[in-house]
Amino acid sequence: MIRPVIIGGGLAGGAAALRLAQRGHAPLLLERESGAHDKICGEFLSVEAGRHLSALGFDVARLGGARIDRVRIHAGRRTAEARLPFVATGVTRRSLDAALLDHAAAAGAEVRRDTAVRHIADGRAVTADGVTDAGPLLLATGKHDLRGEPRDPAGTIEGLIGFKQFFRSPPRLRTALAGAVEVTAFDGGYAGLQCVEGDRLNLCLLVDREHFRALGGNWTALFTALLREPGLAALADAEPLLARPLTIANVPYGYLAQPGDDLYRLGDQAAVIPSFCGDGMAMALHGGRLAADMVADGAPAPLFQARLRTDVARQVRLASNLQRFAGSRAGRFALVAGLGAVPAALAALARWTRVAPGAVARAGA
Ligand SMILES: Cc1cc2nc3c(=O)[nH]c(=O)nc-3n(C[C@H](O)[C@H](O)[C@H](O)COP(=O)(O)OP(=O)(O)OC[C@H]3O[C@@H](n4cnc5c(N)ncnc54)[C@H](O)[C@@H]3O)c2cc1C
Repeated sequence: MIRPVIIGGGLAGGAAALRLAQRGHAPLLLERESGAHDKICGEFLSVEAGRHLSALGFDVARLGGARIDRVRIHAGRRTAEARLPFVATGVTRRSLDAALLDHAAAAGAEVRRDTAVRHIADGRAVTADGVTDAGPLLLATGKHDLRGEPRDPAGTIEGLIGFKQFFRSPPRLRTALAGAVEVTAFDGGYAGLQCVEGDRLNLCLLVDREHFRALGGNWTALFTALLREPGLAALADAEPLLARPLTIANVPYGYLAQPGDDLYRLGDQAAVIPSFCGDGMAMALHGGRLAADMVADGAPAPLFQARLRTDVARQVRLASNLQRFAGSRAGRFALVAGLGAVPAALAALARWTRVAPGAVARAGA
């Protein structure tokens, strides 16, 4: 029996801990938050993510998420709509991540909450309580880099700020959104809007830092500008539920970890796919399951990293190129016009930017 140490209890860390415990090992997971918490995320749980969760024996349906089987893209007054080639779920990270950690603990993983790792020294995690025993180290701190272990941002898309707010959904808007995820591309960024459990709406968006500054550099000004977008105007009647939106900056979109040191990097520490794809959670779960099996089988970290890269690099590169193209006004309108004319292309794009079914099936097999 081995005792790997997993730093970070998001979906990547949670999946790795769960799978290792299911294989009879004794993983220790360290998570800095003390309990369930909101996370900045569009909360579009793709079919691949659903497959990983069910392979782990986790029943996502019990969380009561919203069914999503259509995508609508708005750019100004233009709209393209298509049926997704799969069914996705709108479910909050507050529920999902906490439930996955509970599931891992029930399977035998030791989950220590309220425990922030400060740094790594001599292959061991250092916390305020001391130093962990030696064992394989899995780095799953997601969007946040651990001191001394930064991701290399070279070649990534930087300079975007993310915001997320929940809204109580007026019935008219809920009916209009039922079954769909809506993506609105606007000058300087894009926003996703969809239902999640509990009759709430999730608005999650990314905006270019310079554009945000030009608008006044505050949420009220940004939101007022967003309400002028036809795809988002209906939010004027919706009641915000968080006292202030969650924000994040400096996400290195397009980042791919190089096979290198002795650390097993998972989730956003291994690969960051542009958010509009809604497949970051699937990649996190994919890496978590794969790492658990490779660690349990004694595979060295560089081998795991190379294998994960093979599974996700194409999707990350394609999505990053699309994001760059849609960053210009002309590109954005051309894209929506093209996709509106050929709805099958939208479904194909949705398929190409996801972890391939073969790779999903192989992870953990
Ligand atoms: C704006 C935005 C929208 C997105 N929308 C979607 C979407 O709709 N669908 C989708 O599939 N993906 C989406 N993503 C991507 C998705 O959120 C991430 O890919 C996914 O959360 C990665 O999971 P993770 O486990 O790697 O990291 P995280 O979910 O970030 O989890 C990391 C965990 O590590 C903990 N931690 C951090 N530092 C430490 C430390 N020092 N010690 C201990 N614990 C620590 C944190 O508290 C956290 O719980 C979006 C991302 C962004 C930025």
